[in-house]
Amino acid sequence: MSLIKVIPLGGTGEIGKNCTLIETENDIVIVDCGISFPHEEHYGVDIVIPDFTYIIENKEKVRGIVITHAHEDHVGALSYLLKEVNLPMWCTPLTEAMVRSKLEERAKLLEVKINRMTPGEKFKLGEFEIEPIQITHSIPETSAIAIHTSEGAILFTADFKFDPTPVDKMVTDETRLKELGEEGVLLLLCDSTNVDREGWSHSESEVGPSLKKIFHQAEGRVLITQFSSNIHRMQQICDAARATGRKVSIAGRRMEMTFQMCRKLGYIKVEREDTVPIEEAVKMAPNKIAIIVTGSQGEPRAALSQMSRREYSRVKVREGDTIVYSARPIPGNEGPIWRVVNNLVRQGAKVITDYPTPIHTSGHASKDEIRHMIALTKPFYVAPVHGEPRHQKSMVDLLVEGGHAEHRIFVLENGDQLLINEEKAWIDDAIQYGEVFIDQNANKPVTDAVLRQRTGLAHDGVFVFTVVIDQRDGAMANRPRADVRGMVADKEAIEDILDDLCTILTKYQPSELLSQDYISAQILEAAQKIIWRRTSQKPVVIPIVEIV
Ligand SMILES: [Zn+2]
Ligand SMILES: [Zn+2]
Repeated sequence: MSLIKVIPLGGTGEIGKNCTLIETENDIVIVDCGISFPHEEHYGVDIVIPDFTYIIENKEKVRGIVITHAHEDHVGALSYLLKEVNLPMWCTPLTEAMVRSKLEERAKLLEVKINRMTPGEKFKLGEFEIEPIQITHSIPETSAIAIHTSEGAILFTADFKFDPTPVDKMVTDETRLKELGEEGVLLLLCDSTNVDREGWSHSESEVGPSLKKIFHQAEGRVLITQFSSNIHRMQQICDAARATGRKVSIAGRRMEMTFQMCRKLGYIKVEREDTVPIEEAVKMAPNKIAIIVTGSQGEPRAALSQMSRREYSRVKVREGDTIVYSARPIPGNEGPIWRVVNNLVRQGAKVITDYPTPIHTSGHASKDEIRHMIALTKPFYVAPVHGEPRHQKSMVDLLVEGGHAEHRIFVLENGDQLLINEEKAWIDDAIQYGEVFIDQNANKPVTDAVLRQRTGLAHDGVFVFTVVIDQRDGAMANRPRADVRGMVADKEAIEDILDDLCTILTKYQPSELLSQDYISAQILEAAQKIIWRRTSQKPVVIPIVEIV
């Protein structure tokens, strides 16, 4: 009898930074290694990754990383983990191509061992047998992963939907999922992102006809924005453009790279003469061009956002342009997105965010698809993942309504250990885990102290207090000085603060004033209190004590 541990380091109680460990006495397998995005209060943080301490401490046991698909929330943190521990990886060819280009770009990791996996072909990692299963999502080559253990199969659905007519015709292997259900699935870790949506999601191939109609009706240029990894959408844009006599061009570096790579590898099929560089596109007749643009989420540095601010030199938005949002806002991004839309409208563009027929469809399963997954795989235990607490709760309700025993459903939080033996399963104390904030320019973690300082600077600015102490008598050599940036305080208020600080400093002995560290700490504490009392602000205070 052996004990199986399931430990999410990210991806439970949130949508993002998916990374889960399956552990037994001698072996660990990691499924996915992704990033999430910071909240607005995380100033200067570009991405968030899981804390990898547990993996590093147990690296001798780790047999490898299995990747479900190439989205950033599943692969984006690989470069950070692999810099710490050199682990082998298993994934499909497209995922490998996308991961390699990012590893090389971000971390110059050229020597990583990447092994190919093929849906339907099992392979061994330590005592585990790993089985990738073909599934549909919004990027090609997504695999559900069954990990066969001594106690039964642990099945990761990965991000999934049941798309009966995917653009690449690679449908979900429902036969194998059903077989697994008959063999017995011990635990299902199920994507719960869209559990609150009724019914069944639209097929990706339903988007194509809508795009064709819009391309046909538009009298001027069409600019279309989408997630830069949505390769099937790019294919459908190319097809719609060809059918309506338009050439395709790309604006945005990341999108261009993905497009060119996928074209080279055969994931996007488009004739060379049907695409044109952006420099040529802008010179062509407006009704002969369709431009795929980055920035569907209002990202400030993306091409569409720059266009909305009239800062994108290669393409200027003009009267008669039709701009199509072929993406849904990720919750939290609505504000920036509508700001971009409004600016585009001001410049005379027609912006289509909604249409009678689908111009976007999600890659995640709606309620009935989740029900179908449960019916096929008949899991003994279920843990809703890839969802915030509200999604996890909705999934629990859905399962209970469907007759699943509540004590066999586990709502996990990051760091929890779900333990399973042959008799029962239970949640044990959390391991060391957390979030690591990364500033990509510095390529380093941002500590809590730095984040606190950035918050202080953003809210109330900085107050620099300089005092000069004469080393001969340990007295203040002259009146201290205050340099202020970003604080809302007039001259008088600053002078009052200085007066208060001077009064306090006169109470110290000369020997205390000559002790730089001691007196700096005293000034810091006193200044924070005085500034708060006089101005109701909490700027970052920097005391400078000079002894001359
Ligand atoms: Zn995901
Ligand atoms: Zn995904």
